[in-house]
Amino acid sequence: MPELPEVETIKRTLAGKITGAKIKDVEILTAKFIRNVPVADFLERVRDKRIVDINRRGKRLILDLGKDFLVIHLMMAGRLLYHAAGDPRAKHTHLVFWLDNGAELRYVDLRHFGGLFLHGKEDDTPWTSLGPEPLEDEFSMDYFQRVLGSRRGKIKSCLLDQKLVAGLGNIYADECLFQAGIHPAREASSLGGTEVERLHRAIREVLSDAIAHRGTTFATYVDGEGNKGEYASMLKVYRRVGQPCANCRTPISKVRLAGRTAHFCGMCQKAGEGSAAHRAD
Ligand SMILES: [Zn+2]
Repeated sequence: MPELPEVETIKRTLAGKITGAKIKDVEILTAKFIRNVPVADFLERVRDKRIVDINRRGKRLILDLGKDFLVIHLMMAGRLLYHAAGDPRAKHTHLVFWLDNGAELRYVDLRHFGGLFLHGKEDDTPWTSLGPEPLEDEFSMDYFQRVLGSRRGKIKSCLLDQKLVAGLGNIYADECLFQAGIHPAREASSLGGTEVERLHRAIREVLSDAIAHRGTTFATYVDGEGNKGEYASMLKVYRRVGQPCANCRTPISKVRLAGRTAHFCGMCQKAGEGSAAHRAD
């Protein structure tokens, strides 16, 4: 599933190509991917509109159409691809935006979980409920310390909570916890000041590094030009169960946490106090 580094990479690959282009028309092959407005309304508000800007908030892509924001949730296996008009269409192509520069922007989704949302700029935009962007100043140490200190729950679950910090998913939450040397099942409020500091730094370093390597591809993720990311080979714990830890050679373990699999090194990331492993119950 695309997380912050993948969506950021898609944004960057598309920005120079689609910013300023006008959407001449939209070909809707599978209407259900337009999630929050009737199809006729969607067409009316998107046709003949210029793409003023493309942004990312958390894991969402946001096209600024002047009066409206077109918000794209890629979810499990959505793709937003820039193509020359004559390029063969991939299976699972659901929407095609015809641009006035002769190219097409295609929404492709192999799993049907993603979709497009249209929000008037006057409306309450849904991403106002998202937590701070982890690579921006708003994600400060003070903020992180304060919210983790007041949280009940495991640190891994906190990192996945988009209201606490936007953009992390299962891959990068595991990688950040490994880099910070913190067990995923630790209670968030049990983390000491230096641990929170290490985790804060790890989040910024891991995400920046993943963006520099254009994200992680296992099966479906590609950027806006159809290229795979290169970060998969740099992952230290995610999907590396049984392989030796890069630091200490202990085989990487996994554990189920709140319905998700967490990957970690049992030696570098001690369960410690407040974790499930040390609870009396
Ligand atoms: Zn280790």
